[in-house]
Amino acid sequence: MTDAPTDALEDRIAREITARRHELVDLARDLIRIPTLNPPGRNYREICDYLAARLARSGFSVELIRAEGAPGDSDAHPRWNLVARREGSGAGDCVHFNSHHDVVEVGHGWTRDPFAATVEGDRIYGRGACDMKGGLAASIIAAEAFVAACPDFRGAIEISATADEESGGFGGVAYLAQQGRFDPARVQHVIIPEPLHKDRICLGHRGVWWAEIETKGRIAHGSMPFLGDCAVRHMGAVLAEMEAVLFPLLATRRTAMPVIPEGARQSTLNINAIHGGAREPEDGYTGLPAPCVPDRCRITIDRRFLIEEDLAEVKHEIAAMLDRIKARRPSFDYEIRDLFEVQPVMTARDAPVVRSTAAAIERVLGRAPGYVVSPGTYDQKHIDRIGRLKNCIAYGPGILDLAHQPDEWVGIDDMADSAKVMALVLADLLGP
Ligand SMILES: [Zn+2]
Repeated sequence: MTDAPTDALEDRIAREITARRHELVDLARDLIRIPTLNPPGRNYREICDYLAARLARSGFSVELIRAEGAPGDSDAHPRWNLVARREGSGAGDCVHFNSHHDVVEVGHGWTRDPFAATVEGDRIYGRGACDMKGGLAASIIAAEAFVAACPDFRGAIEISATADEESGGFGGVAYLAQQGRFDPARVQHVIIPEPLHKDRICLGHRGVWWAEIETKGRIAHGSMPFLGDCAVRHMGAVLAEMEAVLFPLLATRRTAMPVIPEGARQSTLNINAIHGGAREPEDGYTGLPAPCVPDRCRITIDRRFLIEEDLAEVKHEIAAMLDRIKARRPSFDYEIRDLFEVQPVMTARDAPVVRSTAAAIERVLGRAPGYVVSPGTYDQKHIDRIGRLKNCIAYGPGILDLAHQPDEWVGIDDMADSAKVMALVLADLLGP
């Protein structure tokens, strides 16, 4: 790390950001107007083309990269990503801003057109306004303002706009990381402008384990259930054991991770789905279901674990619970299948990008930053696990609670303030 940016440079950056306020609003609105809905992954090429033209104009070399063969990639819905790079005038670090360009479905309850990017007072409304096209726009304006204020900077700035974060990031950041794009020899600092609010630094996220548990039974006529073996009743025993033993136990397991909201500062387990017995009838079917004893029942569990927990032990705890039930319940039999897992991640508070962002927040907002950890995962997992890059945070404008909601919005002042913070981070890490 270098010394704090000089007052003169800081003033120039502040002036450059202020002068670009309208441009910032226009850029965010243009991005919101491209409906990059995921699933299925619409208009990814369009948004990458728009950003490529924009960043090429401001002196970046741009590459469009299709995640060929990644989950979700097809000719109908190709997974396009953009990476833009601007070299400085001397050797130095590379600071990379990574935003996902996809947005989730619109859903019900909107009182505004989700893709019109309406401006009302200080707010821009639209699907993806806060998650995370406002953050993407802020990082681009930050980079452009910094380069204008400090044309002889050292090192390099990269900006990426990547696909599919909302569906796991395999056609986006994971793919780029597999290509070596987040190799610590290439990129030294990463900021992901997710909507964590302009005065907070997100250090990482809890771990995830999804699994499917199936209980087994034997089919028979519903009028003579004693001739069969009901898989739903066996699953009932599993749920009862969870209620009696597992949930209270998980609630006692607290973490030193500063997870927000507070309720997620412990181990949690959700049952995402349950299904047993006959299939749901097709729409329009007017008959009655047939009477059968269900021979299969399945649940999908979503276990979020802490940095203090070990994934193998998390899995063992569930298997041991099922074995306990098996020992006391005649004919109980089960299978468990892993679906998905992500290790917890937490960047150290003294990592260079954390210290630099904390100092910039203090300069711009006049208060110390809050440090948070996300209850759910985001693309940092791939940068950490595949890229092996630890110096990574999420920092960006917007209120996390508004993400995926109807009438999602981002504040214009918040975007401008966070752009200023990001530009000061560049000044600190790449400045004279
Ligand atoms: Zn997001």
